[in-house]
Amino acid sequence: MKNISVIGSGTMGNGIAHVFAQHGYKVSLIDIKQEFLDKAFATIQKNLDRQVSKGLITEEEKEAAISNIAGFTDLKSGVENADLVVEAATENMNIKLDLFRQLDEFTPKSAILASNTSSISITKIASATQRPTQVIGMHFMNPVPVMKLVEVIRGYATSDEVTNLIMELSKKLNKVPVEVNDYPGFVANRILMPMINEAIFSLYEGVAGVEEIDTVMKLGMAHPMGPLQLADFIGLDVCLSILRVLHDGFGNPKYAPCPLLVNMVEAGHKGVKTGEGFYHYTPGSKELVLAPRFKK
Ligand code: NAD
Repeated sequence: MKNISVIGSGTMGNGIAHVFAQHGYKVSLIDIKQEFLDKAFATIQKNLDRQVSKGLITEEEKEAAISNIAGFTDLKSGVENADLVVEAATENMNIKLDLFRQLDEFTPKSAILASNTSSISITKIASATQRPTQVIGMHFMNPVPVMKLVEVIRGYATSDEVTNLIMELSKKLNKVPVEVNDYPGFVANRILMPMINEAIFSLYEGVAGVEEIDTVMKLGMAHPMGPLQLADFIGLDVCLSILRVLHDGFGNPKYAPCPLLVNMVEAGHKGVKTGEGFYHYTPGSKELVLAPRFKK
């Protein structure tokens, strides 16, 4: 595999493009607007600069990585030579089904089509194509250049050959792939989201405050970040939509999202990206400040 197309240049897409380009692959990065691509290139440049300043890569390796990435706003031109497509567009079923229908038409018949979805069924996504054996989940973690895990999700029809290729490719990116089957939330979010939801229920029921809950989990369980801070980082809207996928997919009330989470998302308090969730965020500041609402 040589030519990789990455669809969506947001939080995950620019990180995925960065990692492939750094390992010598030719990357076509695709988004719907040039301004989104410009922002992604600036982020990739900044993250590569950080790797140089930490001595992780050389200036020449940084330049080589940047020269490996080309931007496209036209889907067909961006994927027509792809050996592998990694779709990291917005987490929305209709957007993904529509994209995979077009990918099936525009990519070479031999291309593997992967999705970085956090929660949408790979089997469902594959059903939009005529090549379900070549559709697979390649679930990178945020921030992609730093996090080691790739959850490799086998859809109902994904072939052994394609699964093995993606497992081996992930290792070439210096990641650790783990193979899982396609059921709601896969493994990562099936375990993480109920923990975050339970932390929010503990706050909602007055068991303890935000800082107390996060401190218990940080110091008691050696988690690098408390579950409420992590929820802010992931995005409260994203957490809510994954909980809804678990709730609908299993039909089990244990996954019902906490009403406090629902209210916060409806009020537009979605965590780091909106400046407020359980904590208050000021651009450029790393200090962790409680949101006024949760001060005692
Ligand atoms: P994001 O909102 O930061 O970026 C999504 C990008 O996709 C946007 O730039 C948008 O313009 C682009 N896009 C939308 N429709 C498109 C189309 N038709 N063609 C091309 N580009 C299109 O989202 P994100 O956080 O990067 O998430 C992307 C995917 O990765 C989702 O499926 C999400 O579930 C998954 N994911 C996210 C995280 C995370 O922590 N954010 C972690 C793992 C997986």
